[in-house]
Amino acid sequence: MSPRTLLALNWKMNKTPTEARAWGRELARSYRRGTVEVAVMAPAVSLYGLKEAMPGGVDIGAQDVSAHESGAHTGEISAAMLRDAECTYVIVGHSERRTDHAETDALVAAKARQAQAQGLTPIVCVGEGLEVRERGEHVEHTLAQLRGSLDGVDERVVIAYEPVWAIGTGKTATAEDAEAMAAAIRGALREHYGDLADSLRVLYGGSVKPDNVAAICAQPNVNGALVGGASLKVEDVLAMLSALE
Ligand code: PEP
Repeated sequence: MSPRTLLALNWKMNKTPTEARAWGRELARSYRRGTVEVAVMAPAVSLYGLKEAMPGGVDIGAQDVSAHESGAHTGEISAAMLRDAECTYVIVGHSERRTDHAETDALVAAKARQAQAQGLTPIVCVGEGLEVRERGEHVEHTLAQLRGSLDGVDERVVIAYEPVWAIGTGKTATAEDAEAMAAAIRGALREHYGDLADSLRVLYGGSVKPDNVAAICAQPNVNGALVGGASLKVEDVLAMLSALE
């Protein structure tokens, strides 16, 4: 059975806690639970207020987590703290963190393991930059990143394929490109998790919006989307949901 479609929203470093609560209240006024699962990945300081304002049935998550369990790691947020703040998901290895904070595959895997140890589901991001794509090495590159980022990570995981050249640029991979890479990822997941790979979710991310979300998510190996820019306005989120339902 194919897994339930997930619309995962990544606000990045946008919205104050006050704005986050207002967004949650606005969503609650129009949201009707459907077949698509929705989760909002908000900045950590906004999680509590957002959860309170959010309609039932919509999950929250964080955009990063510490690879450490607790202790002397100033500025970091642990998986236990996120669980206590009622998070379901946490993004790990987003390309902006891999670039801005030099996160390696080994660190991403350590963060994913911490998340799982606290019952959170990590959304592990992988994907190639433009130069790699132009050299035609995107499949090898992405699968190597995937294998490194899943070291010691069990099957309670979501994968997001996000070609870096499509993030926040308005350039979207075609639905066929998204499917080709999602199928390759599914193959690598089968090597890692056996038959369980068929029930795992592989998302596509990169300039997804109301007018392309349905075509991308209709691909057989694409089980949802990770959405940045188009997640900020409730109106766009509702439009994506109605396109998917
Ligand atoms: C993202 O932040 O993961 C993302 C895919 O951003 P955007 O939708 O803006 O390209």
